[in-house]
Amino acid sequence: QICIYLTGCMTINIKDIQGVGPKTLESFQHLGISTKEHILQLFPKRYVSYFLDDIENIKKGKLINPPVLSRHHVFKTSFKLDVNGVIISCVAYQQPYLKHVLDVGAFYIVKGKFDTKKKIFIVSQLKPIRLENQMVADYDLKDIPNYRIQNILKTLLQTEIKETIPNDMLEKLHVIPIDQAYQGIHFPKNENDVEEALKRFKLQELLHLFEGVSKQKKRHFLTFDQPFSIQEKTKSLPFKLTKDQENIVLNIIKDSKEDVPLKHLIQGDVGSGKTIIALIIASYFIAQGYQVALMVPTEILARQHVKTVQSLFKHINVSLLTSTIDFKDDIMHDIHQGNVELIIGTHILASSSLSFHQLGLVMIDEQQKFGVEIRKSLIEKARDQDVIYLTATPIPRTLLRSILGDAKIYTLHTMPIGKQPIKTISVSYDALNKIMDQLQRALENHQHIFVVVPAIDSDRVTYNVMHTYHVFKQRFQQDIFVLHGQMPKHEQQRVMDSFRKQKQGILISTQMIEVGVDIKTATFMLILEAEYFGLSQLHQLRGRLGRGQLKGVCYLISNQPNDERFTILEQTTSGFEISEQDLYTRGPGDMLGLIQSGRPPFKHIDFIEDGPFIQKAYDVYLDLKNKDTHV
Ligand code: ADP
Ligand code: MG
Repeated sequence: QICIYLTGCMTINIKDIQGVGPKTLESFQHLGISTKEHILQLFPKRYVSYFLDDIENIKKGKLINPPVLSRHHVFKTSFKLDVNGVIISCVAYQQPYLKHVLDVGAFYIVKGKFDTKKKIFIVSQLKPIRLENQMVADYDLKDIPNYRIQNILKTLLQTEIKETIPNDMLEKLHVIPIDQAYQGIHFPKNENDVEEALKRFKLQELLHLFEGVSKQKKRHFLTFDQPFSIQEKTKSLPFKLTKDQENIVLNIIKDSKEDVPLKHLIQGDVGSGKTIIALIIASYFIAQGYQVALMVPTEILARQHVKTVQSLFKHINVSLLTSTIDFKDDIMHDIHQGNVELIIGTHILASSSLSFHQLGLVMIDEQQKFGVEIRKSLIEKARDQDVIYLTATPIPRTLLRSILGDAKIYTLHTMPIGKQPIKTISVSYDALNKIMDQLQRALENHQHIFVVVPAIDSDRVTYNVMHTYHVFKQRFQQDIFVLHGQMPKHEQQRVMDSFRKQKQGILISTQMIEVGVDIKTATFMLILEAEYFGLSQLHQLRGRLGRGQLKGVCYLISNQPNDERFTILEQTTSGFEISEQDLYTRGPGDMLGLIQSGRPPFKHIDFIEDGPFIQKAYDVYLDLKNKDTHV
């Protein structure tokens, strides 16, 4: 067993470090710093650089008289600088040491305020001009000044720092060892030093990820010898499976018979029909005598999936489990006893208070919405840790490898027939009145309308839920529903249910309806203050339309209707293309769900820029790992 990313054990008590007095010790305690390693990992917030391309371009002052230090109430240092022939009188307060560091004839850059009345420059910062390049780390800590941290770091860098990444790997990837990396982060000579150092820390992060995901397991418990007929299980569906859906189901059934557990990712655009695949695979596992858990990011989505199961897969004994349901304990007991075959719920499924009877398969919908830890603790409850991830957000390959390791990927390329096209139109608020007329007609035709806004009651946007409600109420009087995250869960559910049941209606909500909500008679969506939403988010939102026989129109309403992002949405309906664009405009951000809690504020890996490095690191990692297991 190699353990290459954990940091070594500490032998130094930080109390004993030179320069750490009781006050600093206390500040460290506030910052949660208790080991030498913690201090070394106090990465600078920024670097201040004093690079001079051309010294002549900078207005510099030559000191022309010795500084005078006077001391009435405060220390005041006065001196004169000759700036290109203009003599400027300067004073600096409370910096008595300046008297000892200023040299007549030397050049300085000063920063501060010029008092135009007194014609005096009040110096807040003074820097001698040096000809060599220099970068200085700025830690930006409230209680501990930079120079103190730097002194402590200098002392620590003299001590032995244990390398935790094998030499082989460092060499193969041209990465510098840990002591040099700390030197480079804290005392760089130039940007290149910082970059080289960061590479070392990126690698460490990557190894942490790889280690967590890539353990190829053997199948130990599950067997798949009970008969199963897809035709039989799907004959009561109101539609025929698409070719893609059928192939994926067949493949997964085939894969289950291999001697490694399933670790699959099904990706397909919103509405491409992933849920049906998941449910057929669930019935397959159930037919073999195992329980199946489906974890989804929201309660609304969980309830909706349960409804789908109850109407399309009547043979499955399904149960909903979320933190807010009634009789939770009874249901958990039933699950433990094995009285439930399919459990659909939120992250509570991962909690340690729930144990299953014979969990065979875990499915995670919208996997990117869950953190590593939650996914892991649910997956570990499955006997062989079989897992299927479902996602509508395509993930760059390199990223995928680091999140899911060796997962097998199946993609739904086609939309089920019957999925109606959605037209997207970006407009300014001037168009709102005309759009309202269209909504009026839609309501008369018994259709449903979504109005989505970015905030509940924030003043930062005009169209928050509250204001929008008033605007629409004036025009439409009835058929208006309001949904947002601050409402109690049961109230949210009540609103969704009555919106669905009503012949027609307008639902005003925050982006809560992003995932899953499935209303076949929804024809219009208005997204107000559209610039507040991400590209992928907008795409997900509009995916709520066109789910039945009716075409959908999505209006993006903003002050910048020509925004490039809106144009992309007008032109393409491919979620894959959009997510790719989104990656470039916004960065992978929340897609990851992995650079989150417990990570240092300095985000090392950039999953786009570092793509090639990630790839190489992964190859080297696997290489060494295989060597290791052969020994
Ligand atoms: P996803 O989870 O991929 O976003 P869903 O599984 O929720 O998509 O499917 C979207 C809609 O398409 C649902 O209403 C579902 O009943 C319907 N659907 C799924 N597969 C088919 C199919 N083969 N033919 C027609 N409709 C389908
Ligand atoms: Mg879905």
